[in-house]
Amino acid sequence: MFLKRIELNGFKSFCNKKEIIINKGITGVVGPNGSGKSNIADAMRWVLGEQSSKNLRGTSMQDVIFNGTQTRSKKGYCEVALIFDNSDMRIKSEYTEIAVRRKMYRSGESEYSINNTNCRLKDILDLFRDTGIGKEGYSIIGQGKIDEILTSKATDRRKVFEEAAGIMKYRVRKEEAERNLRKTNDNITRIDDIISELS
Ligand code: ATP
Repeated sequence: MFLKRIELNGFKSFCNKKEIIINKGITGVVGPNGSGKSNIADAMRWVLGEQSSKNLRGTSMQDVIFNGTQTRSKKGYCEVALIFDNSDMRIKSEYTEIAVRRKMYRSGESEYSINNTNCRLKDILDLFRDTGIGKEGYSIIGQGKIDEILTSKATDRRKVFEEAAGIMKYRVRKEEAERNLRKTNDNITRIDDIISELS
């Protein structure tokens, strides 16, 4: 599985529709300071569900929408798609090409889709779980991230290894099951209270 194309439209400095083709092997992005290199990494994190504007180097989420220049007016929405080659079926899906897309309007409303079918952010997170791809995944290593991993608490560092080992999905399912169990126990206690009041 590899990322083969990024489509950007109205995201940060990418005012017009732009397509970045990524071939197999190592790809370097070069350009003068402020030309938008880091904005490409921000775009990838954003599609994968980044909700913190600070992590995208902005003050509000709307800062990711092209804000206009002296000669161009600002845009009302932005859209980014990541297209993955999945011929090795590493992502559990029947498709050999997977396109995940996020669109956001100035109102703050976000839309997500997988292969042009609207979905929830949770579906995108589930799709990539245990592949290392994700806003917190080890496949995107931002500046200072290595230091952060080395100096983090052992329990936090363990999550990186769990994701790489492919057991993160079981941890998430276990936490979901424990939450449901707690809710069910609360309901049983409430029912017991009602029964004892009535009897
Ligand atoms: P460096 O090499 O200095 O790290 P870079 O190539 O990584 O730079 P970025 O940080 O990706 O550059 O891009 C910064 C540019 O993006 C700035 O010129 C900034 O004005 C522009 N930019 C950021 N957000 C927006 C926005 N919402 N609308 C328009 N332009 C934006």
